Amino acid sequence: MRYIDAPDLKKRVDEIAVTLGMSHVNLARVACLRSYGSSTKRTIARCHALGKMMQKAMDTQAFYAIEFLELFEKMSEKEQDKVIIHELMHIPKSFGGGFRHHDFVCEQNVDIMYEKYASVKYPDKRRWF
Ligand SMILES: [Zn+2]
Repeated sequence: MRYIDAPDLKKRVDEIAVTLGMSHVNLARVACLRSYGSSTKRTIARCHALGKMMQKAMDTQAFYAIEFLELFEKMSEKEQDKVIIHELMHIPKSFGGGFRHHDFVCEQNVDIMYEKYASVKYPDKRRWF
């Protein structure tokens, strides 16, 4: 596996989080990386966290890293935005090092958030789907 810092994706993640009012997400403690050479070919992105045990052991705060796999690059901008929203939604309100799960981070809720984002980003469009 190879990991490369992705400042361009970090910019998009920041913009989406700010636009959606995700003020619980401490963007100074969210990193974005591209990964290459994963054996899982169907995964688009995943959210990693520094859990409570490691925070205590390292005497530090929670930290999240969003990993973007090779499949991400092949998607449309809209689909990519939805993937970013999906990964951001895994970060809980507490920003404590845990995750919200797929009962909440589901297609329906991601679509609601995407529509909200698109209405700000593309105010001239009447419909975004
Ligand atoms: Zn997920």
